[in-house]
Amino acid sequence: MQTCDYLIIGGGIVGLTIALELRRRQKEARIVVLEKEKALAQHGSGRNSGVLHAGFYYSADSLKARFTREGNARWKAFVEERGLRINRCGKLVVAKNELEVEGLRELKRRGDQNGVETYLISLEEAKKIEPRIKTTELALWSPQTATVDPQECMAAIAAECRDQGITLCLDSPYQGRRGLDILTPHEVYSTGFVINAAGLYADKVAHDFGLGLRYRILPFKGLYLYGDEPAGSLRTNIYPVPDLRNTFLGVHFTVTVDGRVKIGPTAIPAFWRENYQGLQGFNPTEALSILRDEAVLFLRNDFNFRGIALEELKKYAQPYLVAQAAALLEGVRRENYRTWGRPGIRAQLYDHQEKKLVMDFTLEGDATSLHVLNAISPAWTAAMPFAEYVVTRVEELQQGHSLSP
Ligand SMILES: Cc1cc2nc3c(=O)[nH]c(=O)nc-3n(C[C@H](O)[C@H](O)[C@H](O)COP(=O)(O)OP(=O)(O)OC[C@H]3O[C@@H](n4cnc5c(N)ncnc54)[C@H](O)[C@@H]3O)c2cc1C
Repeated sequence: MQTCDYLIIGGGIVGLTIALELRRRQKEARIVVLEKEKALAQHGSGRNSGVLHAGFYYSADSLKARFTREGNARWKAFVEERGLRINRCGKLVVAKNELEVEGLRELKRRGDQNGVETYLISLEEAKKIEPRIKTTELALWSPQTATVDPQECMAAIAAECRDQGITLCLDSPYQGRRGLDILTPHEVYSTGFVINAAGLYADKVAHDFGLGLRYRILPFKGLYLYGDEPAGSLRTNIYPVPDLRNTFLGVHFTVTVDGRVKIGPTAIPAFWRENYQGLQGFNPTEALSILRDEAVLFLRNDFNFRGIALEELKKYAQPYLVAQAAALLEGVRRENYRTWGRPGIRAQLYDHQEKKLVMDFTLEGDATSLHVLNAISPAWTAAMPFAEYVVTRVEELQQGHSLSP
């Protein structure tokens, strides 16, 4: 049996930044991170777009709004200190019609409320930033948006953890518990406090602790289609105006750290949590439960889930996906976009009591455990300040308080 003060389940960006924040506050604490895979960054934290969001999408009262702007700045400082790659290419949000222009104005309002630098600019000004852009009379310019390489960043964060005496146990899935004795196939960990940052499985772990019972994770698949235009052929990230009633940002163009262009990610309802390719990771019980939730949402059609699901499923077809993206940019040719990238799967929380998708990061906890339940985008960007928030909540719980907002 191993003993530790804090045991974190899940070695994604959320788990690792929480571990680092615990270490910053408690120099002597024994901190262990359990990661089920043999290598880090196998799920969301290694398969995302790598966009450091600026923070203008989110309503001012949300945790997303509270942490994204600072998270963006903290990542920039981190990658610069360590000489990691970053593309400070910014982002243009474009409007296809008059209705979407109102959406641009709403994003500008949210940006202003969240203290995020954004500019509503004319078509002429937008064309100076990206000559190929298609928009109506206005676009929204976000100079602070940037892209990093998530795998490179995860390796640097993991190295930092190891340097700071945090124990990262790979190939160590959480399998259950007896009180605060946490079971893995090779070891039992006796711990003082558990932090659940298990991404796609965070709901299952929380349920084991009798928490988060009104929630289940619904997986949404993000496909990417790479272009073969030469590096530099697109100068900035190009996004559409999103439907702010759901958490997805719509198919867009991302410019990677090395100047390549990719279209995506989609948000296709997936049928099991690690439904990356073929039948890989298939679990019939899990698939049945997810299908049941998706069927309920499809039939009830709250927040237009039926429309979203049918629209997203069409994006499995490359020509359709390219055609959607071509609405944002001149000169997008089907033959230039043929290579699928590594898909990612979003761990979207579903509230099955209220029958709705949860929009913000969500925490549940008690005196011995805290569960991070909805670490959806932009949790990558927000990770560092969000970890500070989580650790403060841990300290409060340990002092016998309940979770404060
Ligand atoms: C397609 C896509 C694009 C995205 N793009 C962006 C973006 O551009 N910018 C942005 O800010 N955010 C983006 N996001 C969101 C971002 O990637 C996530 O918010 C973030 O990675 C969540 O981190 P995490 O640590 O919670 O999850 P994960 O990275 O999934 O980490 C959870 C870890 O827990 C492990 N685990 C699970 N179960 C167990 C168990 N039983 N025992 C032990 N370990 C376990 C998993 O193996 C995994 O490594 C995107 C997400 C996706 C899917």
